[in-house]
Amino acid sequence: MTDLFDLEHIWHPYTSMLNPLPTFKVKRAYGATIELEDGRTLVDGMSSWWCAIHGYNHPELNQAVTDQLQNMAHIMFGGLTHEPAIELGKLLLKITPPSLDKIFYADSGSVAVEVALKMAVQYWAALNKPVKTNFITTRSGYHGDTWNAMSVCDPVTGMHQIFGTSLPNRIFVPPPQSRFDGEWNPQDIQELRQQFEQHHHSIAALIIEPVVQGAGGMRFYHPEYLRQAKALCEQYNVLLIFDEIATGFGRTGKMFAWEHAQVEPDIMCMGKGLTGGYMTLSATLTSKQVAETISRGEAGVFMHGPTFMANPLACAVALRSTQLLVEQDWQANIQRIEKILTEQLKDLAQLDHVADVRVLGAIGVVELTTNVDMKTLQQQFVERGIWVRPFGKLVYVMPPYVITDDELHYLLAQMSEVVKNMQGVNDNVLA
Ligand code: PMP
Repeated sequence: MTDLFDLEHIWHPYTSMLNPLPTFKVKRAYGATIELEDGRTLVDGMSSWWCAIHGYNHPELNQAVTDQLQNMAHIMFGGLTHEPAIELGKLLLKITPPSLDKIFYADSGSVAVEVALKMAVQYWAALNKPVKTNFITTRSGYHGDTWNAMSVCDPVTGMHQIFGTSLPNRIFVPPPQSRFDGEWNPQDIQELRQQFEQHHHSIAALIIEPVVQGAGGMRFYHPEYLRQAKALCEQYNVLLIFDEIATGFGRTGKMFAWEHAQVEPDIMCMGKGLTGGYMTLSATLTSKQVAETISRGEAGVFMHGPTFMANPLACAVALRSTQLLVEQDWQANIQRIEKILTEQLKDLAQLDHVADVRVLGAIGVVELTTNVDMKTLQQQFVERGIWVRPFGKLVYVMPPYVITDDELHYLLAQMSEVVKNMQGVNDNVLA
């Protein structure tokens, strides 16, 4: 089943070339269905790592790409501009925090994070504070795989340590412990306050995923953390960067997760769902004040400009995808998914080998007491006709928003069966 050339020559994400995990060859995908080369179909629980929010092979998104292709697939963004970038920008400013006013289009989520970090450093340099170059963040965070993005990922789950001293040394504080829907514990913010007191002279920005820490642990934390963090940033002259790459475009039940706290960042990154999963595109947005300060600095310009900046095909499909989202009653749809996730996953919490079950918006997480055997589990999921890719102790789903009730019930029923049958299960609990 695994393609031999693929196995021998093509690197997949986070895999060994000596002992690669099996891969399943996909023939096509449509709606919330992935069709394998061997004819089997899988109900998709991953949205291709959060991005295919409208599902696959969407007629209107296909049309947006086809239409744009007739004009141009790409054109350089230095000295030239185009309608898709402009119209997308107008729409993005309507759905993001009012304080954000300037848009930098980049190629991927990690690059959007690099751009955000560079903006922060250039901002302070322009204000004659050249020592404010470091960053502070919480543990259990994830911000991408490029060098500086990696430096602000959780040092353990982000596989930081492998790179040793080649990575810049960042300041880490414990992740917030207060649950999203629980009581706020004021202790949560103490370490951040202390680090700000001690190190604010050298800190350019606090970078954080608002409300949901994704790939670093799928944790949902209390929005009060963001309100208090913002107050500290203002008190100590530190910029606030929200990484909304995973949380954006409705996934947590709000268009962007900052809305849970009503805290506006100075800089915000988006990616993944931006193009509905069609192409790679990201954006880093910032305020007029930050952008103009950077522009008044010694360099006079912001020092970044990738070849594929604002790629017209990607902007055109991003525009249509975002229009599709805002034109529909997307909140009701996310609530529909949230309700089914909550109802169907809650019983798993009674299992001895399940540490926690949590749901927020269109994200459902089952945290186990021990690490999963990804290879075995993935095989079992595929045999049962679903696509779920666990990591660490986490078996989780974040389906495309177009998933039907029946598909979602099937996905969760099959996933639950696999979780129940895992080692150490008390069979009576969920009989
Ligand atoms: N930030 C967050 C919060 C992410 O979840 C990810 C991707 N999982 C990234 C940044 C990096 O995005 P990309 O993989 O597109 O570089």
